[in-house]
Amino acid sequence: MTSPAKPLLSVENLSKVYQGRQTLANRLAGVRPFSVKAVNDVSFHVERGEVLGLIGESGCGKSTLGRAVLRLHEPTAGRVTFDGEDVTALSAGALKDMRRRMQIVFQDPYASLNPRSTVADIVGLPLRLHGLAKTTREVRETVARILERVGLNAAHLDRYPHQFSGGQRQRIGIARALISHPEFIVCDEPVSALDVSIQAQIIQLLLELKDEMGLTYLFISHDISVIGYLSDRVAVMYLGEIVEMGPTDDVLARPRHPYTQSLMSAVPDVDAPGKHQRVRLAGELPSPLDPPKGCKFHTRCPLAIDVCRREAPISEQVAPGHQAACHRLSEDLSVRETAAGAQAR
Ligand code: SF4
Repeated sequence: MTSPAKPLLSVENLSKVYQGRQTLANRLAGVRPFSVKAVNDVSFHVERGEVLGLIGESGCGKSTLGRAVLRLHEPTAGRVTFDGEDVTALSAGALKDMRRRMQIVFQDPYASLNPRSTVADIVGLPLRLHGLAKTTREVRETVARILERVGLNAAHLDRYPHQFSGGQRQRIGIARALISHPEFIVCDEPVSALDVSIQAQIIQLLLELKDEMGLTYLFISHDISVIGYLSDRVAVMYLGEIVEMGPTDDVLARPRHPYTQSLMSAVPDVDAPGKHQRVRLAGELPSPLDPPKGCKFHTRCPLAIDVCRREAPISEQVAPGHQAACHRLSEDLSVRETAAGAQAR
């Protein structure tokens, strides 16, 4: 009997805490050092060739999680395993080699491209860092080929980032991520800074490249429509924790966590035009400096009861491969119906 294939990426109990620096002024003023738990005890895996969508509001910790997986931000606790190797235990030299296989496309293509470097230098840098091309000519030829593939061309080699549109700059960022032939890419909100028409082109390009190059994506977005379109599975993040995760079709068709239900209520129901009811959550995302006790969502949850304020819920399986963390899962409640009932009273 053959054993099942291992996931390409496994993340176990990953946490990232930022410690605030204690300044003399703060000490004299009696302000205590603070810490921010941006990611708290997160576990998931990504199969080879899969797209795992990571969704949540701005500030929920999803970008920090993406960077901690790559050790661009050093995790505080937990383990990341890539193709059987413990990334969190790698030496600096071994991590540099591993980075050839694990890349990132950033949200803001302008901020992530050095304004003083040409496209040939920006996209060619990974070739030089990893010793994948020896001569300048080899670098330029390889860069020209990848530029063609992402919809640019060799005429762009000696131009600077400011000479491109937002969509073209994102294509440069994608070319830079792809040039070292990675297997896994963290796509960190790669389309959210772009116009809607350009977003569709970039999403299509990323999907084509995934199939052509056998890539695996952790795709981060705050837009549930984007995640629904391209993800095989989805993980929903709230205040540094994954509150629901499962096959995209299942999670979007039948979201079980009240937070996922509220996100889904923002998507218009094409089968019931005019009857769509959006659930607007009260207040803002609480500060990770002082997160609520118990269930972190209780301060905004329309279904919160006493136990939610005292005890953090444990993640439970609700369907094959689909988990959610909520004290009221067994009651099968809907935030939309609860909100409608409250309005009717
Ligand atoms: Fe809402 Fe309570 Fe469930 Fe948290 S545990 S999501 S507060 S019902």
